[in-house]
Amino acid sequence: MSDVAIGVDVGGTKTLALMIARDGRMLGEVHAATPHAIAESIGAPTAEVVAGLVKELCDAQGRSVSEVPIGVGLPGMMRRDGRLVYAPNLQSASGAELGPLLGASLANANVFCENDANCAALAEHEWGASRGIDDFVMVTLGTGIGGGVFADGQLLRGRSGFAGEIGHMVVVARGAPCLCGNHGCWERYASGGGLHRLTREAALEGRLPTLVAQRGNAAAVRGEDVTAAAAQNLDEAVVVVREIGWWLALGLANLAAILDCGHFVIGGGLSSASNLVLPAARQYVADLVEGHAARPEIAITSSMFGPRSGAMGAGLVAFERSQ
Ligand SMILES: [Zn+2]
Repeated sequence: MSDVAIGVDVGGTKTLALMIARDGRMLGEVHAATPHAIAESIGAPTAEVVAGLVKELCDAQGRSVSEVPIGVGLPGMMRRDGRLVYAPNLQSASGAELGPLLGASLANANVFCENDANCAALAEHEWGASRGIDDFVMVTLGTGIGGGVFADGQLLRGRSGFAGEIGHMVVVARGAPCLCGNHGCWERYASGGGLHRLTREAALEGRLPTLVAQRGNAAAVRGEDVTAAAAQNLDEAVVVVREIGWWLALGLANLAAILDCGHFVIGGGLSSASNLVLPAARQYVADLVEGHAARPEIAITSSMFGPRSGAMGAGLVAFERSQ
């Protein structure tokens, strides 16, 4: 039984790999850009990047790759057998069986694949913000929105393993087009991509005059400009950030109505802006959820591990499944 594991989180823009100890201590961290080129062999560029990071971590820590279990978190619909059957935000790996691909290029290492937001939920439940909490939803705000649902202390998997694809709940009928092919999905409004879209819209409508003047034109204003300016209390930026908070609250209210979960843990790349977005989301959830006054308080908190939750949880998956 290995005393360390490697957890890899393949995100929409960045792939992060951590070596962790059994108590969750982080021993090493490396990252690389996530490849998006569609290769003849589906998933091969992703496998190549992941294998490179794994080798780099093992070399730095003086470990042999074949002795360290490896967990890989991937965005999208992950079947129980570890096949990523549909990944709108990672189309270069959609349909890939990364476990065998990686095993072949890593000296037959033990590789276990899991949905990335499920990994984040497992890490926060084991070591982080939802430790000891049986009913919660992990919501990862990155390029899209990922979800990991804990009900009665268990990760909800569903019939095929696809449970928790909350980013593709439709919140606007015939709304903004989504990479999944549908329209009006929640992740088009409340993720990092949603922030970018709402920023663009607000800039073109003349609602961000100071930022447009700073950048020179409306198309050049980025989501990061809005969160940075909101942190400095620039009113026009605060309005857009609160708008993101409203969209986040809309999806959370729907989830609370379905699941009766008392706790939402918000993580992912956009979670760095959470001290701006979450207060608005808390306020709006009270307006949007059915029977708010009749419910116990619904907690909305930041994840403990931020953008590292997914990789930490992937490491936890590697420990648990290699036993
Ligand atoms: Zn969608």
